Amino acid sequence: MAVDFKVIVIGRGMMGAAAARHLSGMIDGVALIGPGEPSDRKSHHGVFASHYDEARITRTFDDNMVWATLADRSLDRYADIEARSGISFFSEVGCLFAGPKPRAGEGYLGRALDVAGALDLDVETLDPATLHGRFPQFNIDGSFQGFFQGRRAGHINPRALVRAQTALAQAGGVDVIDATVTGVRDVGSCVEVDVTGKTYSAERVLVAAGGFTNFNNLLPLPVDVRVAARTVVFFELGERELELFGSMPSTIVFGETDDDHVYILPPVRYPDGKTYLKLGGDTEAQVFDSLDSAGEWFRSEGNLSEREIIAATAQALMPGLAGRPITSASCVATFTRTAYPYAGFTASSRIAVLTGGNFVAAKSSDEIGRLGAVLMTDGALGPENFGEQLTPVFR
Ligand SMILES: Cc1cc2nc3c(=O)[nH]c(=O)nc-3n(C[C@H](O)[C@H](O)[C@H](O)COP(=O)(O)OP(=O)(O)OC[C@H]3O[C@@H](n4cnc5c(N)ncnc54)[C@H](O)[C@@H]3O)c2cc1C
Repeated sequence: MAVDFKVIVIGRGMMGAAAARHLSGMIDGVALIGPGEPSDRKSHHGVFASHYDEARITRTFDDNMVWATLADRSLDRYADIEARSGISFFSEVGCLFAGPKPRAGEGYLGRALDVAGALDLDVETLDPATLHGRFPQFNIDGSFQGFFQGRRAGHINPRALVRAQTALAQAGGVDVIDATVTGVRDVGSCVEVDVTGKTYSAERVLVAAGGFTNFNNLLPLPVDVRVAARTVVFFELGERELELFGSMPSTIVFGETDDDHVYILPPVRYPDGKTYLKLGGDTEAQVFDSLDSAGEWFRSEGNLSEREIIAATAQALMPGLAGRPITSASCVATFTRTAYPYAGFTASSRIAVLTGGNFVAAKSSDEIGRLGAVLMTDGALGPENFGEQLTPVFR
């Protein structure tokens, strides 16, 4: 039977656009289907994405070898993607971790030091006095140590990376279709993919719809994910604060426990022309099991009591932010049962899934996308591509 496409990738987000770009260099007959960012979030009643922002932390310093490798392989290709697309997205400003002195191999920092050793990463350990001297804009606990990765770390612009991936996919022959998918069916000889008023057919389909993967009948069975609310807080900066925080790296500060941490993005200029310093934490106020509840969250400005808590933490950590205007936004993080992304086939040998960023996948999305492309062309992922770890769990 003649099909419209060999492969359809559903979801024009960080993983889907990357998968389509990689597929464009492997086969022809590829389509990437997904809507762009809504122009007015508050009146939008369709699907949303977790990359509608200007900055995501990137680093290879990580407490897990698989995640560190996914980031490392992605970082290897940032410069090439920027050069070929003409779209820059990587700011190599470094990444600082600060926290209580770790015990060897224990806790996030202890394990991350082991992984850094195994991967030969260039990470400087800073004693408390050096940490304070190097980063005087922070009021960090006087007993905390710092771990600083100066190269191959900083932040990426997730919107720009998706634009770059999509442009390169299109230049490589991928049909980019601006539509929301409302149903996917394995009909025996091929897969049918419904969008409003039209059905496309393909030999194989890769579902990369982020936190919205279990909605809109995209999979034969839902994947076992927790789609969790996250609130981000923005401090609008003036000249004085730009001077104070302008040269800071991306920063993650732990409290007494690993769960208690805050991440901070350095000043970044946003499309409204203003410059913001952004922070977020890891508190989980809500999880979403329906398109309606996730949509309602995305139309909000996040959880206002969490915003207060994050803002107070920020001002204690960076007293120079006092008095600056504060706003907030909502986002979702998609956590998997395995704590790894899911990249594998469903009950149908023609429909695979690629999702589960676990709050940390923006930096690694190019490699995760490549793994999705390999799944589509080879039908499976071998050990060098973490096939076992990335096996999806279904409900
Ligand atoms: C507040 C916050 C901060 C974060 N900070 C970091 C960080 O500092 N560093 C880091 O590495 N990661 C970070 N992340 C994680 C990172 O942003 C995500 O892991 C990443 O965006 C996941 O990519 P994705 O492709 O799975 O999903 P998305 O980027 O959300 O893309 C999914 C796409 O699927 C599309 N879609 C959904 N349903 C359909 C449908 N029915 N039909 C067609 N298309 C559909 C959507 O439109 C969207 O474009 C953060 C996440 C959040 C929420």
